[in-house]
Amino acid sequence: MGERFLEGRTALVTGSTSGIGLAIAQALGSAGASVAVNGLGSHEQVEAAVASVCSAGAPKATFLAADLANADAVEAMMRALDDWGPADIVVNCAGVQHTAPIGEMPAATWDKLIAINLSAAFHTMRLALPGMVGRGFGRVVNIASVHGLVASVNKSPYVASKFGLVGLSKVAALETAGAGSRDSGGVTINCVCPGWVETPLIEPQIAARAQANGGDRDAGIRALLAEKQPSGRMSLPADIAATVLFLCRQEAHNITGTAIPVDGGWSSQ
Ligand code: NAD
Repeated sequence: MGERFLEGRTALVTGSTSGIGLAIAQALGSAGASVAVNGLGSHEQVEAAVASVCSAGAPKATFLAADLANADAVEAMMRALDDWGPADIVVNCAGVQHTAPIGEMPAATWDKLIAINLSAAFHTMRLALPGMVGRGFGRVVNIASVHGLVASVNKSPYVASKFGLVGLSKVAALETAGAGSRDSGGVTINCVCPGWVETPLIEPQIAARAQANGGDRDAGIRALLAEKQPSGRMSLPADIAATVLFLCRQEAHNITGTAIPVDGGWSSQ
């Protein structure tokens, strides 16, 4: 078990039943935070996620159900979090993807991606930030994407939602910059912008390239990386979690309003 610098803190990680969010929930738990898990999934998947966060070292963990596409459900989740926490750390990680050219993008898919990837983060922040400011400590880490910094074809709602999330985070950072003190840790709002990370979210894109390479999954991954990510390496969910954990430290009190790429050089091109 690592350094327990988050003892006594409470965190919410949306989209933490899988992938990057689950790794972040575990990392925050291992640093001593109590963690509220949220996301979709079977009863077994939810139970396993909560148990893994406790095993990682969280003093307590719970599941807060909410379909983040629904603003009322987000509000109910935040009220439940207030009773359980309240939240010192909010990580907005839930996200969905759909690829198609704009002319073929269903309007309902646009609405759904904007609701989950962008509006849900607005709602968690509007409800959590006043308490953080009042207590003089708070961390919001929004898991955007390299697609919050540069565009790609066939991802109109995803790119729009992630650019929006980067902009929203900068506004929130300016509005909260003066809260607290160096000693209290202040209130900071940042985005982490991953390139390719090996999770279920990108499986359809790997599968499409594997199919073009005679069904070879490794060749599919190499093709995906070669298109965009100069390092030629996928990140692991734990790599993204390590960046989030650093932003939650007291010493990170002056890092706010940033959008940190973890993308193997993708956005430097
Ligand atoms: P994932 O599919 O493994 O996890 C997504 C999580 O979001 C799951 O827990 C899922 O249940 C939850 N979720 C989806 N719709 C929801 C809803 N309506 N209500 C509540 N929860 C919902 O994907 P991931 O790769 O871990 O993605 C996590 C975040 O990282 C996303 O915001 C994604 O855009 C971002 N991201 C991923 C990559 C990558 O390469 N995997 C790259 C850049 C950014």
